[in-house]
Amino acid sequence: MTSIGSAFDESCLFCRIVAGQIPATVVRDSEEFLTFRDINPQAPTHVLVIPKAHGYRDVGELAAKNPELAGRLLAEAAEVARDEGLTDHADISGYRLVFNTDDAAGQTVYHVHLHVLGGDALGHFGSAEH
Ligand code: 5GP
Ligand code: ZN
Repeated sequence: MTSIGSAFDESCLFCRIVAGQIPATVVRDSEEFLTFRDINPQAPTHVLVIPKAHGYRDVGELAAKNPELAGRLLAEAAEVARDEGLTDHADISGYRLVFNTDDAAGQTVYHVHLHVLGGDALGHFGSAEH
């Protein structure tokens, strides 16, 4: 059994959502992961998939410390995308997975989380003007 990291950080927003101390719209709850709707959606479907355990500040740390958990996180996100209807949408299918990592990418919560975005044409990533 692989370690899943230290369990809970009282000062962490996402740990508090996992603990039920802050309400969230949960769409999937498994032993290792919690998936809930982003409070400020950037697409018609925008959910966050997180390992329940605290202890991985970003995807680099997760991949280095626990690559098996990182792989399962990707699989969980793919299942969420399917369950949300993003893979067999009548008009336009597909989704985008995003790990914002550190300040330059706008990471605001340092409990690793995978954004799942879809439900509409998302635009070509990187095509926006800077
Ligand atoms: P980041 O910018 O760190 O990659 O993503 C953090 C995400 O968490 C943001 O997209 C933000 O909208 C979302 N978020 C921040 N606070 C809350 C909250 O209290 N509840 C939910 N459901 N999402 C939140
Ligand atoms: Zn946390």
